[in-house]
Amino acid sequence: MSFQLPDLSYNHDALEPHIDSRTMQIHHGKHHAGYTNKLNAAIEGTELSNKSIDDILKNLDMNNSAVRNNGGGYYNHCLFWEIMSPNGGGSPSGNLAGAIEKSFGSFDEFKSKFSSAAGTRFGSGWAWLCAHSNGDLEVCSSANQDNPLMPGIGCGGTPILGLDVWEHAYYLNYQNRRPDYVNAFFNVINWDAVSNKYQSAID
Ligand code: MN
Repeated sequence: MSFQLPDLSYNHDALEPHIDSRTMQIHHGKHHAGYTNKLNAAIEGTELSNKSIDDILKNLDMNNSAVRNNGGGYYNHCLFWEIMSPNGGGSPSGNLAGAIEKSFGSFDEFKSKFSSAAGTRFGSGWAWLCAHSNGDLEVCSSANQDNPLMPGIGCGGTPILGLDVWEHAYYLNYQNRRPDYVNAFFNVINWDAVSNKYQSAID
């Protein structure tokens, strides 16, 4: 079995002006494709080759840098495309809205905490919103292509929202203005998709 680069459910230019078409083309067609191909090469002929990506990451040998970097890159970008939409933005409703209020006090407090995690991650990495099985939520960030499913990352639970803060994710349009990119991301978050991931994580 090998992993496949997923198709986007929207066009490359669909997230403009928040995320530009050229960035989406390169990010999905080159970067994510590269992680996918290198992950497949790294697991070919090993005991990992018939496992799910979740299993691979949860039981990862963190010294296996090829699988750590490319397995993380494969998983993280699959999540990233799913939780954005041209019809995104606003704020969540239902159980997820309640969980955000319980864990952070308000949606604005959550947004502030998440934006801070994204803005202060030094160098390349990701900001995360993670759900614990008891329903509680946690915001954190990780370096490079690490993610909260991996052992010892420093935040736990299931990632239900992730923001790529590698320069390749924003530099063409935003250059050094990472905070503007983070702010714009909130206009394209697909909260229905995030809510579905939340329900799956706590069921
Ligand atoms: Mn990326």
